[in-house]
Amino acid sequence: MKIKTSPLGNMGANFYMVTCEETNELFVVDPGACADVAIDLIKDSGAQLKYIILTHAHADHIGALDSVKAVYDVPVVICSEENDALNNDTYNLCSMFGMHSPKTTADICVSDGDTLPFGNGEIRFLHTPGHTKGSMCIHFENCLISGDTLFYGSIGRTDFPGGSFKEIEKSIVEKIYSLDSNTMIYPGHGNPTSVKFEMKNNPFVHR
Ligand SMILES: [Zn+2]
Ligand SMILES: [Zn+2]
Repeated sequence: MKIKTSPLGNMGANFYMVTCEETNELFVVDPGACADVAIDLIKDSGAQLKYIILTHAHADHIGALDSVKAVYDVPVVICSEENDALNNDTYNLCSMFGMHSPKTTADICVSDGDTLPFGNGEIRFLHTPGHTKGSMCIHFENCLISGDTLFYGSIGRTDFPGGSFKEIEKSIVEKIYSLDSNTMIYPGHGNPTSVKFEMKNNPFVHR
């Protein structure tokens, strides 16, 4: 699998493109802003888009969803616990940023441990509440796209609606630190990291 990271918009949420080099299939994660750029990136990849996946429904991760979905009508995937927030201005912080909620609704709601076929294998979803009620991570091969749950040397804020420090701590320890320690982590903002590095160095949640 090939991973391309493009921070988009003022808040620099990472727009991820994951391509299976064997089947030339593609899924994208968090089209947060700059719809034209996101659409061009998908076009330029020359790959076949299969899914638009949302790690959670915050404004900086969904701002370009309607525009991308209008061009690429492929299934939008979200955690079932986050589905209500997608179209709720208060829960997704759109009102706080002077934005409107997407009109797009999710096509596939997933729960912890669910998988979807992709390439010659599958992608697996981990429900990791704490930053929001329905935050989730996307696991494939030895990679984890962690949304705003875990960052390089940091963790997501827990003071927004649905947030809980206790929950994010539990999610990180039980769902992420239990993965193979060589798993690479691709966060919703900033640089990649690894399970091994965070278990040792993360000042908020370590063991
Ligand atoms: Zn967020
Ligand atoms: Zn974010």
